[in-house]
Amino acid sequence: MSGTHWKTTPSLQVAVDGPSGSGKGTVAIAVGKELGLPVLDTGLLYRFAGWQMAQTNSESFDEQSVLKVLKNTLPHMQWRATGVFFKSKDCTSLLRGEDVGGLASQVAQFPNIRTILLDVQRDIASQGCVMDGRDIGTVVLPNAQAKFFLTASQRERARRRWSQLHIKDRELSIEQVAGELRERDERDMQRDCAPLERAKDAIHIDSTTMRVDEVVDRMLAVLERRDLIQPT
Ligand code: C5P
Repeated sequence: MSGTHWKTTPSLQVAVDGPSGSGKGTVAIAVGKELGLPVLDTGLLYRFAGWQMAQTNSESFDEQSVLKVLKNTLPHMQWRATGVFFKSKDCTSLLRGEDVGGLASQVAQFPNIRTILLDVQRDIASQGCVMDGRDIGTVVLPNAQAKFFLTASQRERARRRWSQLHIKDRELSIEQVAGELRERDERDMQRDCAPLERAKDAIHIDSTTMRVDEVVDRMLAVLERRDLIQPT
C-alpha cells in the first residue's frame, strides 16, 4: 500500500483462504491491485450455483439436481476478475447476500460439483492471479508460490459481514449475521470434500485487530522476502 511499483514473477499465483468475514476478499483485491494481477473470487462460482438452485424453487436439493442445473447454466456463465455474468448480464450483486451464501455452502458439499468448478478455477488461474476461497491452497492451486490463511475472531467477522449487508437490509441484526456465519463455517469446515482448512505451507494471519493495509503490507513483505516480487 506504499505506492511502490512491483515486478512480479511470471504467472505468480497467490492463494488466500479463510472463513467468511476474515477479510480475505478485501485483501485479495488490494494485493491484486498493488501487483497488477487479476483477483478471482471463487466464492462467486459456488454462489452462482446456489443462486441457480434458488431459481428452481425446490425446498431441498441433491447432487444430481445441482449437476443437472449446472450443466444447463454453466455454458452461459462467465466468471471474470470483475464478477459473474450470466447470459451476458452482470449478476454479481445478486450473488452477494447471506441467503445465497448459505445456498452456496450447501451446493459446495457435493464432490462432483466441486470437480466441475475445479477445472474452471484452474484454467483461469494459469496466467497468474490472486485467488481467494476456502480450498485454494489445499486443492485448487496446491503449487501456488504463496499461500495465506486469514482468520479473525467470530465477533469481528460477524461485525464485518453485518456492516456490508445492513446497507441493503436495515432490519438485519448482528446476532442474525453471526448465527448464519456460524452455521456456514461449520458446514464448510466439516464437509468431507475439500473442507475449509489451512494448507500446511500457508502463512496464518489473524486480522482481528489489523487494518486492511497492515495485512496487505505483511503479505507483500512475504512475497518480497521470497523474491516473488521486486520493487522497480
Ligand atoms: O467466500 P464466499 O462467502 O463468497 O463463499 C460462499 C460459499 O462458497 C462458502 O461458504 C463455501 O461453502 C463455498 N466456497 C467453497 N470453496 C471455495 C469458495 C467458496 O466451498 N473455494
